[in-house]
Amino acid sequence: MNQDWRGALIRRLLLLVGICLLLGAISGQYAWALVLGLGAYLCWTLHQLLRLHTWLKHHQPDEPPPDSSGLWGEVFDSIYHQQRNEQRARARLQAVIDRAQESTSALKDAVIMLDSDGNLEWWNPAAETLLGLKTLQDSGQPIGNLVRHPRFKEYFARNNYLEPLELPSPLSDSLHLQFHITQYGNQEHLVLVRDVTRLHQLEQMRKDFVANVSHELRTPLTVISGYLETLLDNVEAVNPRWLRALQQMQQQGGRMQNLLNDLLLLAKLEATDYPSDNQPVAVDLLLLSIKNDAQALSGERQHRISLEADPHLKLKGSETELRSAFSNLVFNAVKYTPNEGQIHIRWSGDEHGARLAVQDNGLGIEAKHLPRLTERFYRVDSSRASNTGGTGLGLAIVKHVLLRHRAHLDIDSRVGQGSTFICHFPGTQVVRRGK
Ligand code: ADP
Repeated sequence: MNQDWRGALIRRLLLLVGICLLLGAISGQYAWALVLGLGAYLCWTLHQLLRLHTWLKHHQPDEPPPDSSGLWGEVFDSIYHQQRNEQRARARLQAVIDRAQESTSALKDAVIMLDSDGNLEWWNPAAETLLGLKTLQDSGQPIGNLVRHPRFKEYFARNNYLEPLELPSPLSDSLHLQFHITQYGNQEHLVLVRDVTRLHQLEQMRKDFVANVSHELRTPLTVISGYLETLLDNVEAVNPRWLRALQQMQQQGGRMQNLLNDLLLLAKLEATDYPSDNQPVAVDLLLLSIKNDAQALSGERQHRISLEADPHLKLKGSETELRSAFSNLVFNAVKYTPNEGQIHIRWSGDEHGARLAVQDNGLGIEAKHLPRLTERFYRVDSSRASNTGGTGLGLAIVKHVLLRHRAHLDIDSRVGQGSTFICHFPGTQVVRRGK
C-alpha cells in the first residue's frame, strides 16, 4: 500500500518533469515550462489542502473524506481512520464512565471527588441527600465550605486518613456520618461518606447503659462498704470467725468502687470530643505530686522513682484528666515492677511537641499483647492483674484522655527487661515559657 502511493508519486513527478521538458523542447523555453509545470502542481496541492481543511472543519462524524489519489488520498484515509479509531475508543471510555456513574448513583453511600485543592469536582446523588450538596451552586467550591465542622477541617488538613471520622451531618444533628478519605493521583481526594446513624445509636445506648448501671450501683455499694467499715472499726465486737470474711468483703468492695469510678470516668470522657478546660497545666508540679503518691503506693516495696521534668513546658488541657492518665501510667509501673525496681518519669519537649515517658525495669509485656493493651478489660495475665487490684480500664482511660488532648500513646516493652509508655503531645497543645 505504502509502496503504491510512493510509486504513483514518483511516476506523477516524472510525468510532470517529462511534460515540462517536452514543452521546453517545443517552445525552446525550458525554464518557463518548468516554472509553469511546478506552478500547476503547487495549485493542485493547495487545492487538495483546501479540500482537507474544509472536510476537517465541516464533516459529520461518519462522513468519509473527499476522494483523492496518491499521497493526498493516503493522507485523507489515514486521518479518517485515526478519527474513526479515536471515536470508537472515546465511545468505549464513555460507556465505562457511564457505567461507573450509574453504579455510584445507585449507591446509598456518598462518593465525592475533590481536585488537588480540595474543591468539589463530582459527586453522586447520595452526597446530595447525606450532605446537602447542590449540583449547580456547589461545583468547584472547597469542601470545607460545605462541611464546616471544625473536626472535619482538622481531619482533612491532617493528611492522615487511616482512621475514619464520624460526625453529625450538616443537614441534621440526628444523622451521623462516617467519612473515609483516600488520596490518589496528584493529591486528589476521594471522599466516601456512610450513614452510620443506627450504629451510632447502638453505641450511644451501650454508653448510656454502662453509665446508668455504674451510677445506680454506686449508692448501694457505698452503703455496704460503709457498714463493713463500721463493723471492722469495732473488731472486738465481731465474731473472730467472721473477721477474715469481712476483711475480704471490704477489699472486694473497694475494687468494685474503683471499677465503678473508672467506668464513670470513661463514660464522661466519651461524652464529649475535647475537654471543656483548656488552661495551661504545669505538668512538672503535677508529676511531682503523682510521684509522691506513687512512692506512697510503693510503700514497703521500696521502688526507686525518679522524676526529670522541664518546668518551662506546659500543656493545654484538663488538669484532672491529665492527672488520671499520667497517674495510671506511673501506678501501673509501680504495680508491675518487682520490689526495689526502678521507675523513671521524664517530661521533655522537642521541635514536634512534648512527651511524657514512664520507664520501668519491671515484668515487661510480650509484643503480641501491645496492640490490644488499651482495650477495656484487656489483661496480659488475669491472675497477675487480680493480685494488683487493677480494674483493667487504666490504659483505656489513658488512651481516651490522650485522644482528647490530640496526643497518642506509644508502648515499648520487653519481657523481663521492662516497659516504656510514651505520650506524644503535638506542638499545638504545648505552651513554652521563656527560660
Ligand atoms: P490494670 O488495671 O489491670 O492495670 P490497665 O489497663 O492499666 O489495667 O493495664 C492493662 C494491662 O497492661 C495490665 O493488666 C498489665 O498486664 C499490663 N501493663 C500495664 N502497664 C504495665 C507495665 N508498666 N508493665 C507491665 N505490664 C503492664
